[in-house]
Amino acid sequence: MSKRIVVIGGGAAGIGAAGAAKQVDSAASVTVYTEFEDVAYSPCGIPYVHGKEIPSFEQLFLETKEAYVEAGIDIHYETRVQAVDLKRREITVEGEGTVEFDRLVIATGFTYADPGIPGTHLEGLYYVKNIRRAMEWDRVLDKVRSAVVLEASPLGLEMTTALGHRGIETHLVDPRPWALAEVADPDIMQPVQESWTEMGVQMHFNTRAEALLGTDHVSAVKTSDGDIPADIVVICTHKQAEAELAEGAGIRIGSTGGVIVDERMATSAEGVFAAGDCAELPHGVTRVPIQGLSGSHAYAQGKVAGANAAGGGRVYQPVYVPWGMVAGRWMIGGVSFGETLATALGIPFIVGAANGITRARYYPDVKKIRVKLLAEPKHHRLIGAQMVGGEGIKERADFLAVAVKTGITLADLAWMENVYSPPMGALSEPIAAAAQNALAQLKD
Ligand SMILES: Cc1cc2nc3c(=O)[nH]c(=O)nc-3n(C[C@H](O)[C@H](O)[C@H](O)COP(=O)(O)OP(=O)(O)OC[C@H]3O[C@@H](n4cnc5c(N)ncnc54)[C@H](O)[C@@H]3O)c2cc1C
Repeated sequence: MSKRIVVIGGGAAGIGAAGAAKQVDSAASVTVYTEFEDVAYSPCGIPYVHGKEIPSFEQLFLETKEAYVEAGIDIHYETRVQAVDLKRREITVEGEGTVEFDRLVIATGFTYADPGIPGTHLEGLYYVKNIRRAMEWDRVLDKVRSAVVLEASPLGLEMTTALGHRGIETHLVDPRPWALAEVADPDIMQPVQESWTEMGVQMHFNTRAEALLGTDHVSAVKTSDGDIPADIVVICTHKQAEAELAEGAGIRIGSTGGVIVDERMATSAEGVFAAGDCAELPHGVTRVPIQGLSGSHAYAQGKVAGANAAGGGRVYQPVYVPWGMVAGRWMIGGVSFGETLATALGIPFIVGAANGITRARYYPDVKKIRVKLLAEPKHHRLIGAQMVGGEGIKERADFLAVAVKTGITLADLAWMENVYSPPMGALSEPIAAAAQNALAQLKD
C-alpha cells in the first residue's frame, strides 16, 4: 500500500512539504489541509498591491489549483483540522471525520500576537494574511482616510510604507524607541524614519496602545500619548507559532512556543514532522531557538520535512537569518543580529561601519549605502551585519550570511576582491570598508 502523507497547512511550508514528498516518493498519497480558499500565492506581495506598486492581486498567484491536481497532490481547501491523535495515527477533520496517516507534516504557520488591549472585537481591524481578505480590504482602503499601524514589526514597516505610499494618513504606534527595535539598530532605521516623515507618516514611538475605541467599528486608538482617530487599524504584532494542534497531541513545544524539531525537521513524535513558522530552529551563532522567520525559511524547511516524511534523508541547517525589506524610501537588511540585539543577549562584539555608494559616484542613480559589521573579539569572525541603502542590500545580506556561517573574519572581508563596474558597483566595496574600519579601531 502507498504511504499516506498528510500535511496540515497550505502556506509556504505546507506546499513545500507536499511537493517534496511527491518528488521523493511519487507513489505516496499526499493530502494537504488548509483553512484558506487558496494555496500558492505570495502573501509577501500583499503590502505592495495595497501600496499600488503591484497593479493586481492576481499577479501574486504562483500556481493554479489544477496544477496540484495534476501533480497528484490532494488539497482540501477551507478545511480545518481539529485534532491529531498520535496513538491512532489519525487526524480529525471538520466536516470529514477522521483521516488516517502514516506520516504527518505540521505546517500550521503563525498568528499575530493578541494586542492584549480592550476593543479587539471591533470591526475595522486588519490582520494581513489571507489573499482573499486582502482583496476585500483593498476595496476598503479606497475609502480610508486615516489608519493606525499597530507595532513596527517587519510587516508593520511594510504596511506603513504601503499605506503612506497610497496617500492614506498613516500613524505607526510602537512601545519601543524606534522602528523594528528588536531587530535593527537606530542608525540603520534613522534614514527610514526620516523618509516616512517626508511621506507624511506620523510616528508614535515609546507609545503604548491602551485600547481600541469605537461602538461597532473602530474609530480611534487610545494610546499612552493620547487618542489617535483611525478608520482602520492594521494589527502588526509579532508572529506567534500556531502550534495548538501539535501541543494538543502531546508533541514537545519549545521556549518560543514553536514546535521543537531536529535537523530532519522531525518532532518528538515518531513519523511527525513540522516546518515553517509553527516550528523553532537554533540560531547558527548563539544556538538559541528562534521562531517566526521568513517565507523563504518556511519553504525550505517544508521541503526538508516533506522529503523526509516520504522516506528521504535531508538535513536542515541552523539559521543565520539573512533578511531585507523596503521601508520608507530605503532598503534595510542584515544577517544574524546587530548591536542592539547582541548587547541585549550579552554577546561580546567589535563593530565597524562604513558609508559608501552602490555604483560609481559619477554613474546616474548612484545610491548611498551604510554597512555595519559585528565580529567576535577574539578571532574577529563575523557574527552579524546590518545595512541601509538605496540598492544592493539583498545580495550583500545573502553573501554575509554565508560569511557568518563559514567563519569568515574581518581581515578576510577587509581585503576581499570585489566587482567594480560603474552601473553595478563602486571601486571601494562598503563591506570591505566597514571591515577595515573595525580593524583600524582595534589599533587605536
Ligand atoms: C503580509 C505578509 C508579508 C510577508 N512578507 C514576506 C517577505 O517579504 N519575505 C518572506 O520571506 N516572507 C514574508 N512573509 C511570510 C511570512 O512571514 C511567513 O514566514 C510565512 O507565511 C510562513 O509560512 P508557513 O507555511 O509556515 O505558515 P502560514 O503562511 O501561516 O500558513 C499556515 C497554513 O496553515 C493552515 N492552517 C493553520 N491551522 C490549520 C488547521 N487547524 N487546519 C487546517 N489548516 C490550518 C493555514 O490555513 C495556512 O494555509 C509574509 C507574510 C505575510 C502575511
